[in-house]
Amino acid sequence: MPDAAVPLEAHLRRILDAVAPLPPRDVPLLQAHGLVLAEAVHADLDLPSFANSSMDGYAVRAADLVGAADDAPVALPVRGSIGAGAGAEAVVEAGTAVKIMTGAPLPPGADAVVPYEWTDAGAETVQVRQTPQAGAHVRPVGDDVARGALLLEAGTRLTSRHLGLLAAIGRPTARVHPRPRVAVVSTGAELRAPGESLGPDAIYDSNSTLLAAAALEAGVEPVHVGRLDDDVDGLWPALQRLLPRVDLVVTSGGVSMGDFDVVKAALRALDPADGEVWFGPVAMQPGKPQGFGLLLDRSGTDGDAPRSVPILTLPGNPVSSYLSFEVFAKPALRRQLGLPDDALTTPTVRARLVGAVGSPAGRRQLLRGRLAADGTVTPVGGAGSHLMGFLAHADALIVVPEELTSVEDGAEVDVIPLPSWAPASRDGGAS
Ligand code: AMP
Ligand code: MG
Repeated sequence: MPDAAVPLEAHLRRILDAVAPLPPRDVPLLQAHGLVLAEAVHADLDLPSFANSSMDGYAVRAADLVGAADDAPVALPVRGSIGAGAGAEAVVEAGTAVKIMTGAPLPPGADAVVPYEWTDAGAETVQVRQTPQAGAHVRPVGDDVARGALLLEAGTRLTSRHLGLLAAIGRPTARVHPRPRVAVVSTGAELRAPGESLGPDAIYDSNSTLLAAAALEAGVEPVHVGRLDDDVDGLWPALQRLLPRVDLVVTSGGVSMGDFDVVKAALRALDPADGEVWFGPVAMQPGKPQGFGLLLDRSGTDGDAPRSVPILTLPGNPVSSYLSFEVFAKPALRRQLGLPDDALTTPTVRARLVGAVGSPAGRRQLLRGRLAADGTVTPVGGAGSHLMGFLAHADALIVVPEELTSVEDGAEVDVIPLPSWAPASRDGGAS
């Protein structure tokens, strides 16, 4: 039977061409963690913004202490004490010292700080046993950041260090592409939520959890997670109710050639005023039946143009749906996050295959595998797209190109690492 399957890259391109970064918004700093700056940030002030002490000690005039040494200490009367944040009333007159704490502004008249360690730590009078250079232990204005300087470029994905800098220059918010909210919808009359009782013909809904957790790993927010009404007439109204709350929809199941493939049946017949979804085979294994389109959210107030919400209809088998999420949905979400084009897909690494594998002609096979520190990758389980137990023990996808029907033991292959929180244990063991 002729197979009009679309190449994997062509399907991905179709998706990425239709998806745009979410419109920028100002969000509180901590909510901006992991989000992408939509504008360059320049320094609103110098850092430090006033000259201050880098040590606990005494603010002095360096010229008063010329010649101070262990065997020739110089005594200065102490005229007060200033702590960080305690105002800047004190003045250092010639021949005097003022006690100063780390971070306190250098008082007028002073040009250096002598740390306690160089003194007898006196309260009324201090004996100084070392001569400071002018500027010693003083953090000058603009030493770190100069007002007006470019601090962060648009497109920066914000980490703790970037957010700390924004706080340091006094910004309470960052202008970012907001975190995409993704609906994760399972379909299938056989599905039960974990914890429910299972009849003889039912299975637990693993995809909702699997895909929502994959969304978390992608740095986006899963909002609706679970099974939707699964009759053909109910599906679109149910999706329509979800649309105002989400930026992207991922469904699983109901897109192949079966009698009950509700997603396909319901969305193929969509009124063009509500959107359009393409369904068809993609030249990959697993994950052949795919669909992608745009749904129109018309819930906005009068006059607002409808908002278009991308939908990816992924196949139902858990391994297929997970791989499809990694390969298609994640790049789409990364684009919505505002990441640059060269950061949308996971870069492959090269590894040496342990054992030979077979692969269907004309389809890109993504086999589950485990990467080891010695640069090898070992297949985990077989090609079956129901193999959840093996999926859980994989940390990589072994890529077998369309034109190959087998790969020999020891051959170099491309491998897509899968997300992990900690370095995987490199025992190479498959369960
Ligand atoms: P479908 O694409 O709907 O024909 O589903 C293909 C296979 O995946 C069937 O064996 C389904 O029972 C199974 N499946 C579909 N959705 C889920 C899900 N959410 N969790 C676990 N298995 C599923
Ligand atoms: Mg189904």
